[in-house]
Amino acid sequence: MTIIHKGGCQCGAVRFEVSEPLGHASVCHCRMCQKAFGNVFAPLVSVRGTDFRWTKAEPKRFASSNLVERGFCPDCGTPLTYEAPDGVAVAIGAFDHPESIVPDIQFGVEARIAWMDHVNDWPLRTTMDDIEAAPFLDKLVSYQYPDEA
Ligand SMILES: [Zn+2]
Ligand SMILES: [Zn+2]
Repeated sequence: MTIIHKGGCQCGAVRFEVSEPLGHASVCHCRMCQKAFGNVFAPLVSVRGTDFRWTKAEPKRFASSNLVERGFCPDCGTPLTYEAPDGVAVAIGAFDHPESIVPDIQFGVEARIAWMDHVNDWPLRTTMDDIEAAPFLDKLVSYQYPDEA
């Protein structure tokens, strides 16, 4: 049986499916990816050559340069794609099971944030470890679209 990966935005308006084999997975630290993701790096997996398809609404695109468009959910804003002349890459965090996609190279390291080297030195807490500091978490009900099996 063909392994199908599924994913989408946090509100569920945009969903996608793609079958194995996925392309190369990477993280990009370049300043353009930082801005596009609102984050310090962009984890992306290439879907070039796959049968990738949108199964609900399509993302809206912003042309971040003359050569590349960035796809995002028009309703909730979740960053979803990097679309270049040589193919499309999808945000790994948007997959229902991002742990199954393992990057093995870093791009754009000229803009890499220096504290990235120290993340593993910091204390580790689960979400509920902070329940006393943030008691509202006890009553939290997610409105995000659930991960599918
Ligand atoms: Zn959405
Ligand atoms: Zn980049």
